[in-house]
Amino acid sequence: MCDAALARLPLGDRTVESLCDGHFERERRTFFRNAEDHPSEVTTLQLAVRAFLVRAPAYTALIDSGLGTQAHRLAALDGSGETLPERLRQLGVASTDVDLVVYTHLHFDHFGSIGTPEQPTFPLAEHYMSRREFVHWRGRPGPHGEAVAELVDPFVEAGAVRFVDETVELREGLIVSIADGHTPGHLTVRCTGSSGSCVFIGDLLHHPTQITTPELSPNADEDPELAESRRWEHLSLLASTGWAAASPHLMPGPYWTVQNRHDRFTATSLVPQRGPEQR
Ligand SMILES: [Zn+2]
Ligand SMILES: [Zn+2]
Repeated sequence: MCDAALARLPLGDRTVESLCDGHFERERRTFFRNAEDHPSEVTTLQLAVRAFLVRAPAYTALIDSGLGTQAHRLAALDGSGETLPERLRQLGVASTDVDLVVYTHLHFDHFGSIGTPEQPTFPLAEHYMSRREFVHWRGRPGPHGEAVAELVDPFVEAGAVRFVDETVELREGLIVSIADGHTPGHLTVRCTGSSGSCVFIGDLLHHPTQITTPELSPNADEDPELAESRRWEHLSLLASTGWAAASPHLMPGPYWTVQNRHDRFTATSLVPQRGPEQR
């Protein structure tokens, strides 16, 4: 599982840090709905679960809040979800320092540390999420809907959620956009600092093989065709701009750049890891 050695991406006047809750494995043939159409020698996929911290001159933001209290819902997790506040403390960030939390989507591994309206984990933070996303999951059976009912509904009912409907700059250099497909209101977030940009891609990708083969579609994609077109779109954008991608799930590291190669893509993991990430 992960420890305190956190992975940092500098962007000049701001920095990004990954906050890892742990790792898990899945069988390739059952994780991707169309694995058989794209044969590979890889049989087992390694995935991480991460949130991200952005420290900018004018604000401190979290992108997602990890598994938190929902770790029991993720089968075969090597790690613990209850570590986010402790990891932030190790970085010198108090829970009251967090000004805003942006949730890429409402799968339970992305909002588990929100807390309760009475005892919010980040008491001074504004909480941003997609309205379409919330409407989709509210009252829906299954683990994601149940987690939304448990944690997100109370925040919405308390008037403590700010909904996003379109592309919007939430803070200077922090732009949220709709990138639906994986889920109906999935968001991506671009952070631009004085020396570079980083796109928090949420669950547009789960595994590096989807960079070379964007057609590979996880069963978790709600709209596989739309999710695939969003992958192509974002891979093109990343390749043409040189912006880094920050991913909750990609292994071995959280940060990647994408290169164009004969109308397909290759990728480079940016942060050299000391053994498996954050051990
Ligand atoms: Zn997801
Ligand atoms: Zn996820």
